[in-house]
Amino acid sequence: MHTPVPEYLQEVLDALAGDDGGEVAQYIPDLAAADPDGFGLALATVAGRTHAAGDADREFSIQSVSKPFAYAAALMDRGFDTVLGSVGVEPSGEAFDELSLENGSHRPKNPMINAGAITVHQLLAGPGAGVDRRVERVLAFFSELADRPLTIDDSVLASELGTADRNLALAHMLRNHGVIDTDAHEAVRGYTAQCSVLVTARDLAVMGSVLAGAGVHPHTGERVMPAEVARQTLSAMAAAGMYDSAGTWFSDVGIPAKSGVSGGMLGVLPGQVGIGVFSPRLDAHGNSVRGVKVCERLSRDMNLHLMVSE
Ligand code: GLU
Repeated sequence: MHTPVPEYLQEVLDALAGDDGGEVAQYIPDLAAADPDGFGLALATVAGRTHAAGDADREFSIQSVSKPFAYAAALMDRGFDTVLGSVGVEPSGEAFDELSLENGSHRPKNPMINAGAITVHQLLAGPGAGVDRRVERVLAFFSELADRPLTIDDSVLASELGTADRNLALAHMLRNHGVIDTDAHEAVRGYTAQCSVLVTARDLAVMGSVLAGAGVHPHTGERVMPAEVARQTLSAMAAAGMYDSAGTWFSDVGIPAKSGVSGGMLGVLPGQVGIGVFSPRLDAHGNSVRGVKVCERLSRDMNLHLMVSE
């Protein structure tokens, strides 16, 4: 590829900007009001360079793209045995908000579905930390990864809490099986605050570049998570990051990724680069339509697929 990176990213956005397929998420009133045409893309390398195009600095709520980063924080706070004892790493092949747990153990199948993510959130900041400390923990950790102070969108938080019946049902089910011991409303309040953290496509790329760098922050050269935590997080993303289309995603694009209902998407090529995309219209699986296409195109043009060595 000989085009300079910034021009190339703009070319990719221009080629896909006309695609208005899909629909903005409807089930959270604040998300339903999002500008469907927003479109941004950023790449951040493990050497610390970031390239961006389009609306790469427009803020949106991180939603499910928070799940891998909260998982990394929980692994650091509580260790592998406790976290893996509470949440599995098997792909579920089910929708993100499915009311299901593993047979026998009652563990949620993975940290990328809501049941798993609600459980992971309860593990943050040490035993019995309480909802405020858990939320402070994610906000501080996400800010450290993005290398700027992030904030919570209180309007998205309130809007989502007003329609959180399904997540409350999940929390009650988790409590019923002894997977969490937090009050269900508190559990969902903390998890939903985590989902309401405002980020940009550029932030996601930089946060992803820390995972790509096996836990070393490319901006500072400092280790912000152990290499085995980065590896575990990327493995969970590869297995289950793209809702119920994780298998198709991995065969088409071939890198660990996570999407969210606000249209954010994170991709990570280990050892190389973090990718952040923002485009709010979603396909039937809940993945950003243009976000998936951007990643397919980058994977092809830049030879990113982990299963191909040319
Ligand atoms: N906060 C959203 C929920 O739990 C996140 C869903 C998502 O992005 O997949 O419903």
